[in-house]
Amino acid sequence: EAKLQLVQRHVRAFPDFPKKGIVFRDICPILKDAAALKAVIDLFEEHVRNNHQHVDLIVGLDARGFLFGPLLAQRLGIGFVPVRKKGKLPGATVSVSYDLEYGKAEAEIQEDAVAPGQKVLLIDDLLATGGTLYAASELMRKQQAEVLGCMVVIELKELNGTDKLKPHRVFSLIQY
Ligand code: 5GP
Repeated sequence: EAKLQLVQRHVRAFPDFPKKGIVFRDICPILKDAAALKAVIDLFEEHVRNNHQHVDLIVGLDARGFLFGPLLAQRLGIGFVPVRKKGKLPGATVSVSYDLEYGKAEAEIQEDAVAPGQKVLLIDDLLATGGTLYAASELMRKQQAEVLGCMVVIELKELNGTDKLKPHRVFSLIQY
């Protein structure tokens, strides 16, 4: 499909970043191209409208989930909630620690960000090991929100992130 090809053409690969042996997929060219960014949001919107009857909130991950999440939420006419790295959010928070593709981290949301029973979709730029999205799903579980699924622009297949996220389903635009 034309939109998907447009998105594909705006992802760059950087070998040995941020560490030797890792091929970093850079989504900045998507953001810089209005048509490519619109294509990403069009494809996400289409997926949500075809697969989910009702969504309360889009929950986006720090930091590149923030680039796509609010745009999608606006399209759908719903709100956006950020999952942040520890120590960034004011007020009462809930946190979980998790392993990254390279390192360790803690993810946090504001305690009143989601209400019990709310239906949410998780969004990030890229799925690698799944640790980050899994942490977000744990936060949702703690707050008794219902995760309808995960959405990413890029999925790195060989790291099996989709297994880690089961039973949650992952929708990705591009797979490597
Ligand atoms: P995971 O937790 O699935 O192992 O790693 C995914 C997280 O790390 C995402 O938040 C993503 O932004 C970041 N990440 C890891 N590798 C890459 C990459 O090659 N490109 C981009 N854009 N982000 C990456």
